[in-house]
Amino acid sequence: MLRTAILAAARTPAVERLLTNASVAQSLVARYVAGDEVDDAVQVSRELIADGLAVTLDRLGEDTSDEAAAAATTAAYCALLDALAAADIAPPAEVSVKLSAVGQRLDPRLATENARKICQSAAAVGTTVTLDMEDHTTTDHTLDTLGALREDYPDTGAVLQAYLRRTETDCRELAHAGSRVRLCKGAYAEPESVGFETALDVDRSYVRCLNVLMAGDGYPMLATHDPRLVAIGEERARWYDRTPDTFEFQMLHGVRPDEQRRLARAGYTVRIYLPYGRDWYPYLMRRLAERPAYLALFARSLVSSR
Ligand SMILES: Cc1cc2nc3c(=O)[nH]c(=O)nc-3n(C[C@H](O)[C@H](O)[C@H](O)COP(=O)(O)OP(=O)(O)OC[C@H]3O[C@@H](n4cnc5c(N)ncnc54)[C@H](O)[C@@H]3O)c2cc1C
Repeated sequence: MLRTAILAAARTPAVERLLTNASVAQSLVARYVAGDEVDDAVQVSRELIADGLAVTLDRLGEDTSDEAAAAATTAAYCALLDALAAADIAPPAEVSVKLSAVGQRLDPRLATENARKICQSAAAVGTTVTLDMEDHTTTDHTLDTLGALREDYPDTGAVLQAYLRRTETDCRELAHAGSRVRLCKGAYAEPESVGFETALDVDRSYVRCLNVLMAGDGYPMLATHDPRLVAIGEERARWYDRTPDTFEFQMLHGVRPDEQRRLARAGYTVRIYLPYGRDWYPYLMRRLAERPAYLALFARSLVSSR
């Protein structure tokens, strides 16, 4: 409930102005985001990789409404991939792409072609792309695009969100050999008609989906910080005789860093989702909605800055 309210309020321009200028926003951005520039992204990636972690980089920005901006984002991803190759970290770094950042709402075919260019650049430097999943209105097109891209780039990763009622079925369809699938809870405000309402129902759905993926032949990417779900992931790996090279854990940069390193030391692949760029507002608001305790920090800083 609170999460939905935060996500709805975050779309109001007045709230955006207020929060963007709040000093506490800057310190949260520093926690979750690598920095503004490609060099920052490469530098933080190097540090994470030196700590035994893998990385997926997200160039912040979404809901592009003009073709030139979609083209610029596409070019920026290609330049990022070249920079990762020049730093000799592509792999273990890959990239995560939001189709809305490369034109999905403008023209779905344009978004698919832009994503294809990014896949081409990734393949040229020996790494991969994962298509982030946005709100439920985009799920069908994103999965169609995934299918089209996988014809030429079969290692393109999918994301499925356990909070959607459809996801267990989608997991069954995508749990085949060679299929990289990130399973997360889901970060958008969704209506009850398509999504589970309570945290408990979302968690139960996550476990059902995790079972399907871990029992299947694909490459599951378990994206969660939830200690119970991480433990269930480790347990299912034992049940299904999965060696550490057949699945991975994923977490967000800045969230449970000690646990990230503990899992890596235990021999698992742990990939960190690392955003960079100036367009951090929607990303930060989704993190705030997951962690309403930060609202108190915001409230205190807004009062004390008056
Ligand atoms: C690698 C990765 C990629 C993702 N990609 C997508 C995507 O493409 N589409 C999408 O809709 N969602 C995506 N998400 C977000 C995801 O859907 C959840 O919103 C987010 O991960 C929080 O869910 P949780 O499983 O960690 O469980 P929660 O129950 O939210 O959190 C469990 C515990 O983790 C800690 N925690 C969680 N979030 C935070 C935070 N922001 N700050 C501090 N501590 C926190 C807290 O200790 C909390 O108690 C991604 C998440 C990850 C890790």
